[in-house]
Amino acid sequence: MSALSPQPGVMQISPYVGGESAIPGVDRIIKLASNEGALGPSPHAVAALQETAGDVFRYPDGGCQALRDAIGARFGLDPARMVCGAGSDELIGLLCRAYAGAGDEVLYTEHGFLMYPIAAKTAGATPVTAPETNLTADVDKLLAAVTARTRIVFIANPNNPTGTYLSENELTRLRAGLPDHVLLVIDAAYAEYLDHPDYSAGERVVDAGDNVVMTRTFSKIFGLGGARLGWAYCPPVVADVLNRVRNPFNVPAPAQAAGVAAIGDREFMERVRAHTGQWRAWFTAEARALGLEVPESVCNFVLVRFPLEAGRDAEAADTFLRSRGIIVRRMGAYGLPDSLRVTIGREDEMRAVVAALAEFAD
Ligand SMILES: *Cc1c(COP(=O)(O)O)cnc(C)c1O
Repeated sequence: MSALSPQPGVMQISPYVGGESAIPGVDRIIKLASNEGALGPSPHAVAALQETAGDVFRYPDGGCQALRDAIGARFGLDPARMVCGAGSDELIGLLCRAYAGAGDEVLYTEHGFLMYPIAAKTAGATPVTAPETNLTADVDKLLAAVTARTRIVFIANPNNPTGTYLSENELTRLRAGLPDHVLLVIDAAYAEYLDHPDYSAGERVVDAGDNVVMTRTFSKIFGLGGARLGWAYCPPVVADVLNRVRNPFNVPAPAQAAGVAAIGDREFMERVRAHTGQWRAWFTAEARALGLEVPESVCNFVLVRFPLEAGRDAEAADTFLRSRGIIVRRMGAYGLPDSLRVTIGREDEMRAVVAALAEFAD
């Protein structure tokens, strides 16, 4: 046994397992396992990455000023209340370290994003889940799970992997029901895919108080998961805290430049949104026609639920899809062992998945 012992909680962490990108012996892979944007990055973002390559000997702007200005202009938000991170995962981790510790609880929903318990345990805090209703966050059940020890409530809105969302009214009701010492983190990683009138990414909920933060990412609709870029919109007091605990140069210069270019390419974002909506609807209908249960999703992925019958279950389906070179995501770790999560990709990719599922169902 080693004499070194990590902080309490660390050895309770189940390391995050990302979507795989290779199958041994298979050359042509269709990867629909990590909710990466269907059409890749904007060509402007790629050009920006290339243009910054020669400057990588310089340290980046630690404050991400140009990027925050660009995001602020695009979404009508005050850049002074934004903090950028190496992916929103970094910001989720920093919020836990800054606001939760040993003896504290970090609350999230039953099928919520798995980075929340990882970040909570890293901070020494205890992750706690509240039940959902119909695969959707339930404000009353979340509020009922709040205790004197609760420090942070994470809500992915819309949620990964369920693809469901809460209306702005429900978010406001959640905020109103939380004690003032609890930080509400609205993780709006998929916000850009929605145009539902009752939905908002949460900016106004942030503005309404001192203890709500919204996190966003460039990893999904903007197709920059490999660049690692996310941002948080915060009350000034929280922005100040995040700026104290983050590394001084936490966002690489190429990622900042790519982010500025991506946020400026509205046409590309609209194209990804339209494409995703069209092929999500098509895929959902096709999978349902095969007799599979597919809950309605507003994101760039859907859950496909399989019968709990050996040979026809999610595990068998996953094995079959892999034999056809298709990688999707198993959901056992999210408490949904009967489901596979399929990211919406290009047209040819979605047609290939449906063809393989039809063969499997046969
Ligand atoms: C993908 C995802 C993120 C984004 O993570 P990054 O670190 O920004 O790549 C955050 N939250 C949820 C719910 C996600 O699905």
